[in-house]
Amino acid sequence: MDKYSILKQYYGHSAFRAGQEALIDAILSGRDALCVMPTGGGKSLCYQIPALLLPGITLVVSPLISLMKDQVAALKSAGIPAAYINSSLTGEQIRTVYARTRKGAYKLIYVAPERLETNSFLSLMQEMDVSFLAVDEAHCISQWGQDFRPSYLGIVDFINALPRRPIVAAYTATATKQVQSDILRLLQLQSPYRIVTGFDRPNLYFDVRRPKNKFSALAALIEERRGRSGIVYCATRAAVERVCDSLCDRGIAATRYHAGLTDEERQQNQDDFQFDRKTVMIATNAFGMGIDKSNVSFVIHYNMPKSLEAYYQEAGRAGRDGENADCVLLFAPADVETARFLIENGGADQLSEEDAALVRKRDYERLQAMTGYCKSVDCLRGRLLDYFGQIHPANCGNCSNCKATYQTEDITLSAQMILSCVMRIRERLGYYVGKTLVIQVLRGSRDQRLLSLGLASLSTYGLMDKTSPSVIERYIEYLESAGYLEVDQRYSTLRPTKKASAVLFDGECVLMQKRVEPKTEKKRPRGAFSDEFEENSLYEALRAQRAELAKRESVPAYVIFSNATLADMAEKAPRSLSELLEVSGVGERKASRYGEAFLRTIEEYIQQQG
Ligand code: ADP
Ligand code: MG
Repeated sequence: MDKYSILKQYYGHSAFRAGQEALIDAILSGRDALCVMPTGGGKSLCYQIPALLLPGITLVVSPLISLMKDQVAALKSAGIPAAYINSSLTGEQIRTVYARTRKGAYKLIYVAPERLETNSFLSLMQEMDVSFLAVDEAHCISQWGQDFRPSYLGIVDFINALPRRPIVAAYTATATKQVQSDILRLLQLQSPYRIVTGFDRPNLYFDVRRPKNKFSALAALIEERRGRSGIVYCATRAAVERVCDSLCDRGIAATRYHAGLTDEERQQNQDDFQFDRKTVMIATNAFGMGIDKSNVSFVIHYNMPKSLEAYYQEAGRAGRDGENADCVLLFAPADVETARFLIENGGADQLSEEDAALVRKRDYERLQAMTGYCKSVDCLRGRLLDYFGQIHPANCGNCSNCKATYQTEDITLSAQMILSCVMRIRERLGYYVGKTLVIQVLRGSRDQRLLSLGLASLSTYGLMDKTSPSVIERYIEYLESAGYLEVDQRYSTLRPTKKASAVLFDGECVLMQKRVEPKTEKKRPRGAFSDEFEENSLYEALRAQRAELAKRESVPAYVIFSNATLADMAEKAPRSLSELLEVSGVGERKASRYGEAFLRTIEEYIQQQG
């Protein structure tokens, strides 16, 4: 068997995606590897196929129990002998898996990193022929990453204790140089093959909105997507509770996930979401790493996350099956304050003062990039790809900024007032202040603090009393994004840049690009597998069939077939097993297991249509 026939027979895919094949070849030739691919890029295949082709056993180190369970379920349903060992199994179950491992029953074994530190597991693996060790979510090894997991540091000791060093490959979606070099160093990869694939996810639509009322904006977005599976990320547990309750009150099948719930409830809610019993998951960032539910059709951020890495990873959980999906961020300036609070009070406890300062500095840099994304009027996808160091066209045509229309407004006069106000305050007080105070001075506020600082006697006091605070705020933000003002991320004070003097003293014009918001939500044309399919379509019939099978086998629906596969099946409407194998995502094993049921559904549908 070669890699192509495995791809076709077990997975039902007809071609490798960019980067997959070369990586698999490198591993098969005995080389270590580092693979950086975006979430949904298809990393799993890149260790599963070598696992099937190499002699002996492949160990997959994976951080989350739920992830292992689903991956192993998916492998088994494709006919690949796999097992997992983690704390969710009883002692008896673990002994059974050990015994079957000794008999060579598995090609792939998934383990949590902590398992590698136990003697019983180590001595079992010393007896076996471990030819390949794959480290999934490898960024967990880096304390600069998002999800540091100390037990990842023990992987190298485990490798060194094996009688023969296996091929070692690391997989992650985190592209920063720092994290990559930590992975290389801490896993001691030996002249690894390195692959960093494109980060673009063309099927994701990026959208940043600034609604007056976040909750009603959210409710409307979810209402438009009723019945589709989606995730809503909130910054805090309290927000999760509030949003989830309010959505449930409106009859939305929502559930919640955050670190304050009991283990049982978290597991229960996650399962409800995974199995499509609940369509919307409201969660903090505790939810997600390792979630590979492929039919998530939208990810909405109720609050701005603290970095673009986090944002891209969370938003990237949408559309993993290749369908069109939406990533909407609901931004409010207060989110920046929350993020700042979280950075200042973040869990850097175990670090030395010096390290903690370094972490904070990096966090503020990340926050700056994140805020820049929210305020940008340029192509959003371009912003993201820039951040990950990838070249891209100027406009993607598939984000809210590319779709929006803009009006140019000459704000030179307002800009002069704002910039000079910032400087006058600084002259009076000896330090720079934040935008709230600047706006109050310009508006001629009677605020007590302002008065006691003596700012009411400045020449700029009350200069803009006819302009609303939110408009002045927009101007300030524009001056910021156009580089006339700089914000100190830590203290959120505003200071003018060199560029500002051209406006103040040389009469440089400031032209603001103002986004014209569409009056009503324009419906975006969608891909083949959403709105076009009416209630009675073949696609719906196939979905119903899948739901029934999923229920019977108690697995999540996408383990049977993804939505993209069903859409292709509806399109091709195969009448025989061999025609069914032509459908993308249908391998031999699944065809023989589920083929009959789906062919029957198609037959019935065609007869009904007469
Ligand atoms: P990740 O890189 O996030 O771990 P996965 O390995 O979970 O991504 O794959 C994401 C999705 O892409 C899965 O639904 C998988 O079936 C699909 N996929 C992977 N490789 C291919 C391919 N060569 N052709 C078509 N679909 C693929
Ligand atoms: Mg993965």
